Amino acid sequence: MDGYRGARSAVIVGAGVAGLTAATALARGGWQVEVVEVDPPGTTAGWGLCLTGPSLRALDELGLAETCLAAGYGMSSITHIDVNGKPAGTVELPRLLPRRPAMAGIARPVLHRILSAEAARRGVVVRHGVTVTAVAQEGERVRMRLSDGAVRTVALLVGADGIRSSVRGLLGLGASLDFDGQMVWRAVVPRPQWATGIHQFAGKPHTTGLVPLSDTQAYVFLTENAAEPNALPDAELAPRLRRLLRDFPGRVQELRSLIAGSESVVRRPVLTGLVQGDWYRGGAVVIGDAAHAPAPQMASGAALAIEDGLVLARELERHESIGAGLTAFVRRRAQRCRTLVETSEAIVGLEQAQRHQEAYPLMDSCHRLMAEPV
Ligand SMILES: Cc1cc2nc3c(=O)[nH]c(=O)nc-3n(C[C@H](O)[C@H](O)[C@H](O)COP(=O)(O)OP(=O)(O)OC[C@H]3O[C@@H](n4cnc5c(N)ncnc54)[C@H](O)[C@@H]3O)c2cc1C
Repeated sequence: MDGYRGARSAVIVGAGVAGLTAATALARGGWQVEVVEVDPPGTTAGWGLCLTGPSLRALDELGLAETCLAAGYGMSSITHIDVNGKPAGTVELPRLLPRRPAMAGIARPVLHRILSAEAARRGVVVRHGVTVTAVAQEGERVRMRLSDGAVRTVALLVGADGIRSSVRGLLGLGASLDFDGQMVWRAVVPRPQWATGIHQFAGKPHTTGLVPLSDTQAYVFLTENAAEPNALPDAELAPRLRRLLRDFPGRVQELRSLIAGSESVVRRPVLTGLVQGDWYRGGAVVIGDAAHAPAPQMASGAALAIEDGLVLARELERHESIGAGLTAFVRRRAQRCRTLVETSEAIVGLEQAQRHQEAYPLMDSCHRLMAEPV
């Protein structure tokens, strides 16, 4: 025993999905947890996301699945529509919680509020407008300097600061970060009555679809192929998205008419990333998108992030030292996360090549793999 059990203190960098769920999972195990978040309170990037079965299963372990289902929109199928507007098959996703839908659409700020409230209830302290600027291992503890001049010396540092993680850089962990020529669009719209599951419409050259977020709201997504990762003026967002949807047949025209002003539209580059080699140095580790960021096509980045937090807490509980716990954590997570990132990259490639029919079975088999126990 290295003595850390007497001092279970952790700093987590990033109050996103990975950071807040890891904070809750550790605090449940008796850890004293402080989260530092660079953004001010109430800043949540993006409109909505889909919590797939593995996300709900992991949230259930934290006691949060029911709350998320109640605050979002439960559903169990993805309907694919071909380039001619004809149904091309419906995928029924595995239900991982008994008598519950397979997944839930949820607005990001709503999810964030649920995760923040649970972390606070467990005694986690979140400090906004603060980041980590330097890290050093001192014996069995990690010493760090914060941007407000404070210094912390703790047993564990968790970098949960997203795909552009600066903790990853501070630890000297090498990562690939790729842009493969796709931009994704999201627009919040009123939910049409017929939208009780995810709908995905193949198109030439783009792909679009709809995800319900609540009884009243949904979001339209569009994946723009062969795109430049340049920023557009805000006022151009809604007109440009409507133009990109113009040539789709059928129901997409109804969705197009629901897109209101540019304030309800966001456009982001599709980036993927993977840490090469170990995810940790001494008592500091990266999790979530900081370690493995898939393209959004598999709607599973948040699932991996939540699972990371749970497995990290479990492995630290099971092992006598932080080093052994982190080794076991990475051993349990690396292959699953790599498979998801690489599959999502393959789907991006197939979409760019207009080979949608080959992408569907790949998605289906990867969702089934993700459904296997963590
Ligand atoms: C368009 C799009 C759609 C997606 N849709 C889905 C979906 O439907 N389902 C799904 O499961 N996944 C989806 N994902 C993926 C999912 O959003 C991510 O995998 C997930 O958010 C990762 O969580 P995270 O906490 O690791 O990172 P993030 O959510 O990015 O959180 C990182 C946090 O760290 C903070 N931070 C950053 N730098 C610092 C710093 N230096 N110091 C302190 N704090 C810092 C950030 O402000 C942020 O709060 C989507 C991704 C995109 C881009």
